[in-house]
Formats: sequence, structure tokens, C-alpha cells
Amino acid sequence: SSETIAKIQADLAERGVKYCIGAYVDIHGVQKAKVVPLSHLEHMAHGSERYTGYALDGLGQAPNDDELTSVPDLNHIIQLPWEPKIAWMPADNEFQGKPYPLNTRVALKNMIAQANEMGFGFNLGVECEIFLLRQNEDGSLSVPHANDKLTKPCYDVQGFVDNFSWLDKMATSINDLGWDLYSFDHEDANGQFEFDFNYADALTTCDRLTFFRFMAKHYAKEEGLVATMMPKPFADKTGNGAHFNMSLFDLVSGANVFKCDPKDDPRGLGLTEIGYHFIAGILKHGRALCAAFAPTVNSYKRLVRRGAMSYYSWAPVFNSYGSNNRTNSVRVPAGGGRCESRNADGAVNPYLAAALVLAAGLEGVREKLDPGAPNEDNLYAMSEAERSERGIDFLPQTLQEAVAAFAEDPLVEKALGRELRDEFIKYKTAEWEEYHLTVSAWETERYSSMF
Ligand code: GLU
Ligand code: MG
Ligand code: MG
Repeated sequence: SSETIAKIQADLAERGVKYCIGAYVDIHGVQKAKVVPLSHLEHMAHGSERYTGYALDGLGQAPNDDELTSVPDLNHIIQLPWEPKIAWMPADNEFQGKPYPLNTRVALKNMIAQANEMGFGFNLGVECEIFLLRQNEDGSLSVPHANDKLTKPCYDVQGFVDNFSWLDKMATSINDLGWDLYSFDHEDANGQFEFDFNYADALTTCDRLTFFRFMAKHYAKEEGLVATMMPKPFADKTGNGAHFNMSLFDLVSGANVFKCDPKDDPRGLGLTEIGYHFIAGILKHGRALCAAFAPTVNSYKRLVRRGAMSYYSWAPVFNSYGSNNRTNSVRVPAGGGRCESRNADGAVNPYLAAALVLAAGLEGVREKLDPGAPNEDNLYAMSEAERSERGIDFLPQTLQEAVAAFAEDPLVEKALGRELRDEFIKYKTAEWEEYHLTVSAWETERYSSMF
């Protein structure tokens, strides 16, 4: 109501806010915004801020279409930790007064409403893997610290301490924002870090991931460096995952309906039948989901066992599940009570992916699907023959293959609506084609003298 907005406005003024960013995302999950002075927050909340959808990727508009509006979600306001004059708020798009189905945040809200109808809420935690790099004069990227040739850089302390200034800004802000950072460390590639903050309802977590990227890039710039969550910046280093950790909770009691005592779980992972049904839904739609979780050309350079690396990538290659075993795409980490999908990478549009994975999981719950026995073997090393005997499928190996699986799966239209589905396919097909029209240095080197 106007009264609530006036109160929010007064409160923000007291905290020194002068401007409001109403940030909506395009189909890639990249934020765009209309900005108003604080005195116009109420107008913006009532749809004063109009923009042309044609200016954004994947909003499905033609140049002559009526405009969209940016309607901020006042329940999720974040005052920029580095610039208190600005309040950032995620925004939804409306078209002629109605929620706009091509906006992926709207799509997630619609899917959450469907879960709510079944009596469930959806909790999500995303593990944020990210590289902190130096951009050289020729534009290339390299690891900023001296200790950059470690063959097993995972958990490296020196690399952590060398980049402490950026890490400290990130950690301090994450905690000041109330997200509850519980762990941050040097990840598996030189120059790569991971931030893990507490899970929350899916919409909140998606907003936080959007803001996390914004903040990480800003603090890196302050250090004269570049932060990137692109899935695979270097062929010979591990990539950036953005693992989705998921559970359903009972809307009435708030209890996690995935959690049970491992002793009461015949498969021993500490997951309820509902949890296993949810996983079965994810696996059933695993190949289509891959397009949403790993949505770029570059994503598929990450989804390899070794690639150009001397050691394993920890990225999922197979559509399978198990306990703590990281060679599966879906895990039930120690302690149970949740499942982790490891397909998601740093380029994920979290709203789109969360909507689709929730739809897949709920289908599993509704239809009481069974994921079979957990796989506890090293899939990276298993022979092709044994794997196919066990019915464990490959995930798509290129964006083109993933988009084809996405296009073939009827769940996608049910979950996202025809328009968003078609728009995603259109953009991702074009992205693949554009990539395919390039010739890489590898090709010229390999073939030019050979033929
Ligand atoms: N960086 C790995 C990936 O691309 C994941 C490493 C881990 O298990 O944390 O998914
Ligand atoms: Mg990690
Ligand atoms: Mg993980």
C-alpha cells in the first residue's frame, strides 16, 4: 500500500539512500535497471518505469510493441554495501498491468506458486565459484598472484591470503547483508574461489546470486582486477560451478520434507521418499535441464572429465545420482535432507533454472518416480560398457545438444510457458550458430599444415 511504501521510503532516506535501482533480468539472468530518485520509489512501485523490451535479449518484443514496466520487489531491498546512496531492488516486469511471462523471475514465481498449491515451499542454496583475475594489456586474463602454477591448488592458503583484500570485502558485505557466509576458500583452480552462504527460499537466493555477481565484479574492479563466473575461463583449469542445493519444506510446519534419519532411509542417505521422487524427476528431465543449468557455448567446455587438465574436473558428465560422490550430476551430500545438482554453472540464469528444476522435481513427487539405486562408483573411470549396462546416460556435450533436448522435452513448455520456451530456444540456437561460424586458433594450427 501507499502507506507501506511511504514507510519504506522514509526508512531508506534515514539510511542515506538517494536512488533506487529496480533491477530486472534478461533471458541470460543479466541485470538491467531503471533508476529513480528515492522520492519516486512509490511511482516506480506503481509501474511508472517503462522500457522497451526490444532493447533486452529474450524479452520477446518487437520494436513497435507497447512498453514493459519495471516493478521493484520491495521485500528484497539491498542497500549497496559500497555505495549507501543506492538501494538495489530486484524487479519484475509487467505488460499492460499483468506479470510478464517472458521475464524469468516472473516464471520462477509462477512455478513456486504451483509448489505452494501442493503444500510445499522451495529452498535453494547456490555455491558461488568465481575466478579473480588480472586483465593484461592484450586483453588476456591471468592469475593475479605469484603462486599460480600449483598443480593441485584446491584449498591453497597462499592464494587465499594473497587475494585477501577482495575476499575480505566480499565476506564482510555478504555478512552485513545478512546472508550468513559459512565458508569461503580457494577452489580447485589457481585464482578460483568459492563463497557459500546460507540457503533461503528460492526467489531470495536467486536475487542474491544476481547481486553477488554485481558485487564481486565491483570489488574486483576496486582492486584493479576482474572477477568472473564464466563457466570455463581456462581449458586447463577447473570451471566455475554454481551447484544448486535444493529441498522442499512443508508450508504449514516449515519442516524440511526431504530430511530423515539415515537409519530410516533404506538407501541410507538421509533422504525421504519425497526427496528421492524429486531426484527422479530431475534425472528424468536431466538432459533438458542441462540447457538451463549450463546455458552457454562455454558451459560445455566445463562439463568434461579431464579436458586439457592433468586431473579430474569435478564437473558432471553423466545423468546420475549418488551420495557424496562428486562424479554424479546429482548428489545427496553428507547428512542428507537436500539434493545438489552439480550441472549448474556460473552462467546460469538462476530464475529460469530454478523454475525448471522445480517443475522437474515436482513431477517426480506427483508421479512418485523412483531414481533407482544411488551410484557410488567413480563414473569418470567407469568403462563405457559398464555404464551403458547400468543405464547411466551422458549429459549433453554441446550447447546444441542441450538445446535440442530442451526443445524435445514437453515439461519445458508446461513449466515456463510456450513463449519463454521458444524465446530461449531462439536465443540459444543463435548463440550456437554464431559460435559455429568462428574458426578457432586450435583449428588453424591443427589443420592448416595438415591439409
Ligand atoms: N569446480 C567444480 C565444477 O565445475 C566443482 C568443484 C566442487 O565440487 O566444489 O562444478
Ligand atoms: Mg566448489
Ligand atoms: Mg557443491
